[in-house]
Amino acid sequence: MRLNDPGLLETRAYLAGAWVQTSARLTVHDPARGTLLAEVADCSRTDAATAIAAAKAAQPGWAALTGKERAAILRRWHDLVVANADDLAAILTAEMGKPLAEARGEILYGASYIEWFAEEAKRVYGETIPGHQRDKRLLVIRQPVGVVAAITPWNFPNAMIARKLAPALAAGCAIVAKPAAETPLSALALAVLAERAGLPAGVLSILPSTDAVGLGIEFCENPKVAKISFTGSTNVGRILMRQGAAQIKKLSLELGGNAPFIVFDDADLEAAVQGCIASKFRNAGQTCVCTNRIYAQSGIHDAFIARLAEAVAALRVGPGDEAGSEIGPLITPAALAKVEAHIADACAKGARLMTGGTRIEGTFFRPTVLAGMTPDMTVAREETFGPLAPVFRFQTEAEVIDAANDTEFGLASYVYTRDMGRVWRVMEGLEYGMVGINTGLISTEVAPFGGVKQSGIGREGSRHGIEDYLELKYACLSV
Ligand code: ADP
Repeated sequence: MRLNDPGLLETRAYLAGAWVQTSARLTVHDPARGTLLAEVADCSRTDAATAIAAAKAAQPGWAALTGKERAAILRRWHDLVVANADDLAAILTAEMGKPLAEARGEILYGASYIEWFAEEAKRVYGETIPGHQRDKRLLVIRQPVGVVAAITPWNFPNAMIARKLAPALAAGCAIVAKPAAETPLSALALAVLAERAGLPAGVLSILPSTDAVGLGIEFCENPKVAKISFTGSTNVGRILMRQGAAQIKKLSLELGGNAPFIVFDDADLEAAVQGCIASKFRNAGQTCVCTNRIYAQSGIHDAFIARLAEAVAALRVGPGDEAGSEIGPLITPAALAKVEAHIADACAKGARLMTGGTRIEGTFFRPTVLAGMTPDMTVAREETFGPLAPVFRFQTEAEVIDAANDTEFGLASYVYTRDMGRVWRVMEGLEYGMVGINTGLISTEVAPFGGVKQSGIGREGSRHGIEDYLELKYACLSV
């Protein structure tokens, strides 16, 4: 990895405002080649307690700054991230595997949250309420929740953490974050730039760790932590909820999905194919908003599959740092095994392989399209998190809404149709936090990202995103 600024490749933990090396190290590998990239500080539960204590001490001073003062630091941080986007993208591709162009896109996407919440820091408005008695005046102010603990996954090593750090810091919270052990380098690089931007010591800690369980328990049981913000699997979300129950820990959860992608007979077929590829194969299918089930109406079903299979077969698979690569490796052998298991299960139950279906080498897998899908197949219920596009046939609008909603998840959904009445009916009928209509890409910092049902609690981005880090305080004044 060649960087313009080697200082961005930080392998120490950012603990309580200092760069700290630990005796234990975790190893970070290039998923495209399996080679060792770096040995990184491996923080313990005790380190987490130290970081939380420092955050608790630093938070009131940070909250006492004006919104504009916090905004200025966040704004400088944003500018530094953008100025160093090439290096940050190189680090991201090296540790996570996604194609460089996607990595660069993720860096700018993550930066957009820092910019957005820098702006929002100045707009944490209160309200006055007309009194309920003649001598009463009612006020509402919004205050930071306090110390936030964040846990983030490997699939967006920059953006998932930026989406939490930015609103928390803008609101006046201090934050202690544990990135995924597979991809700590992007998070540490962000902290290098936050420090350069002038973030006060102790307000932010980044703790790489292989002890996810131990840090998770510390975050839930340490009374100094006011809130936990987690992005990852629904299962770990459940564990955190259970562990946090004793202290009624506030939680924001961005969990798994099982996104339906619905194509009606009247859709623009080529646009639907392109949207499907964008939604399904971004990050090799490893995003929580990736399409998991494709529903094609019977009138266009065959034509849609033929065109989709052709376009998918043309996708270029290769290491993320090689020019022209569109699909990188899967993150681990276990991730690849899950894709293979979903394909084997579907084929055993009658699915037809239209393209792909085999591994290439290492954790590279050929992008795959399956036809003849039925609801009893595993992929109908479980997120594959890989480059597998299974196509179900449907007849009616009511039938497909029922099928799409027949899951405990409710994160992203997609629908292609040119009928305006249907757009509204289907959009309202889908039990999902987000609906892409004639588009496969929905993520932006200006909109509220989040799920319903077992896909999560809370929203990231938009003017609503800062609410997850604020409490309302109401004052009743007798005059
Ligand atoms: P994924 O399948 O994306 O790895 P996980 O939910 O397992 O999803 O991981 C997301 C994040 O949660 C990672 O940072 C991981 O280390 C962390 N994690 C995993 N298990 C636990 C746990 N029991 N408590 C707290 N964090 C955990």
